[in-house]
Amino acid sequence: MTLLNDILSYNEEFVSLKKYEDFTTTKYPDKRLVILTCMDTRLVELLHKATNTKNGDVKIIKNAGAIVSHPFGSIMRSLLIAVYELHADEVLVIGHHDCGMSAINSDSVLEKLKQRGIEEQTLETIKYSGIDLHEWFQGFDRVEDSVKHSVDMVKHHPLMSKDIPVHGLVIDPETGKLDLVVNGYEN
Ligand SMILES: [Zn+2]
Repeated sequence: MTLLNDILSYNEEFVSLKKYEDFTTTKYPDKRLVILTCMDTRLVELLHKATNTKNGDVKIIKNAGAIVSHPFGSIMRSLLIAVYELHADEVLVIGHHDCGMSAINSDSVLEKLKQRGIEEQTLETIKYSGIDLHEWFQGFDRVEDSVKHSVDMVKHHPLMSKDIPVHGLVIDPETGKLDLVVNGYEN
């Protein structure tokens, strides 16, 4: 039994027993909120319990570190779609303590790529195409600074509506405690 088979056989039962009925909602967030947070395993359910949000309440965008690294990348596009098409009126950026991205060393990532069979020449080709992989894999030193930076990117994006509050918070992945870093009502 592979993991995929496990998932598919569970899913068959889930659907046939109509377990989905507990989750029926619409694509519009009832709390008119979009959250950008980290893909960390500890936040899968904890973030929602700790913020009192459930299925149907919010749009959720996740990546490694809750980082907006590119003004015209897919994270920023998702935030804009959430605001303009899906009725989100506030943005929360929620980073967390002990984030994998705070410890990322790009040298180590590149070393592991090579150990898994990615050729040095491929890395050279990417480098000479003008892409700095060290920068691309770079994490952050302090999660608060990273959250502030992401809030700033969203708040001052040329396509973001000026009346959208953008808040920044840091969550403790053990206790779920939230610390406010940026109050979007005041900025
Ligand atoms: Zn993280």
